[in-house]
Amino acid sequence: MLTDKQKNEVKELIQRRITDSENELQLLKQLTAAVAPDNSIGRISRMDAINNKSVNEAAYHKTRKRLQQLKNVQEEVDNSTFGTCLRCGKPIAYERILIMPEKRVCVHCST
Ligand SMILES: [Zn+2]
Repeated sequence: MLTDKQKNEVKELIQRRITDSENELQLLKQLTAAVAPDNSIGRISRMDAINNKSVNEAAYHKTRKRLQQLKNVQEEVDNSTFGTCLRCGKPIAYERILIMPEKRVCVHCST
């Protein structure tokens, strides 16, 4: 079980990460905007732009998924089950919660 102080710490941490992820999503959204069908940038740089676009799109989906996980977990911090592994039911190390608050399983169950 987490103490109230720890819960508040985790809540602040999650809130910060949500803000960060939202900022990152905005940036990635701009980067994944349609590649202009403009011949002036040249064929090679256009291919570069398309490659970067798929990299950024992958990052966008990953960040969006993480943001959703963070939002889900944000609502659960006050539940008595928070900090307990969803798979084996053992307590999750507080250090691990601080590093990856969106993960709901302990280090042993995550592999
Ligand atoms: Zn576990």
